[in-house]
Amino acid sequence: MRRILLFWLPLMVGAVLLRAAPNTLDIYYIDVEGGAATLIVTPAGESLLVDFGWRRADNRDAKRIYEVATRQAGLKKIDYALTTHFHMDHVGGLPALAKMIPIGKFLDHGDRVEAGGGADAENWAAYQKLATPGERVSLKPGDRIPLKGVDVVVVASDGEVIPTPINGGGPNEALCKDAKLKEADPTENARSAGFLLSFGTFQFLDLGDLTWNKENELACPQNRLGKIDLLQVTHHGMDMSGAPQHIWAIRPQVAIFNNGPLKGGTSVVYDTVKKSPGIEAIWQVHRALQADQAHNTAEPMTANLEPEAQCRGHWLKVSVESDGKYTVTNSRNGFSKTYTAR
Ligand SMILES: [Zn+2]
Ligand SMILES: [Zn+2]
Repeated sequence: MRRILLFWLPLMVGAVLLRAAPNTLDIYYIDVEGGAATLIVTPAGESLLVDFGWRRADNRDAKRIYEVATRQAGLKKIDYALTTHFHMDHVGGLPALAKMIPIGKFLDHGDRVEAGGGADAENWAAYQKLATPGERVSLKPGDRIPLKGVDVVVVASDGEVIPTPINGGGPNEALCKDAKLKEADPTENARSAGFLLSFGTFQFLDLGDLTWNKENELACPQNRLGKIDLLQVTHHGMDMSGAPQHIWAIRPQVAIFNNGPLKGGTSVVYDTVKKSPGIEAIWQVHRALQADQAHNTAEPMTANLEPEAQCRGHWLKVSVESDGKYTVTNSRNGFSKTYTAR
């Protein structure tokens, strides 16, 4: 009898540890090789999945998302699937994923604005078949995504940004004085649906691939977003985005680049984030192979080090407690660090 008990004990402990820790808000950065896939699971177990990687014959990205959603997060369905915009690195993996796991509501910025053909057009056609009128919600700035226990406010969508400051935002004169603009961006990127998520004192910002001039609208003359704790570096850290007047005003404490081995994670954006007042840490989904060591974070804080062909698709996880403490963990090496939201 005693021997049997001893044999089962580790299994029982293991089962308890495997179950998602209660009362934390969990955010997973799933590696989709230079696309985006951010899974948010609330303390109540509701889920918001933001973007879905690429469409591929082998369903690599949909499978990676499915693995994390079911095995790590213990989900049986995705409550809200938000497509920030209709580019192939964001919406491509959604139809395959929808065959693997049920999806509640489909959220987006409104209809695709680009007229081109090819994979983007095919993805848009597939999206319309999937997101039927009763299950599709197009968001406007100021809308809320109704997850219980957290507050998720849409701050940009379809080229519009939230009209008045929230979250203690206000005048941003010093940073707006010399603020630069870039050429107007007529693409889907500028239409990205982005949101600010608050959980107690913790705040997380995900703006999809929102481009420079829209970031500027969020920052000048008023910083409409206040200060945040965790930033998903916009547009994978490509230099079409990353306006300093915006990043230095929101003052992220921790920044995560969802870059690919050869996409995003540009040195200029890395420098902008690194110089941001109050920044404590930078994490990356991939080492930026085209950048030097000074423009990459430390190896333990990088989920994937190899080129895409060898990449195993390790993820990063942010687990937020109700007291504002949050821990970032690298699934490749188990390395983690805890921060306290300000
Ligand atoms: Zn993208
Ligand atoms: Zn990878």
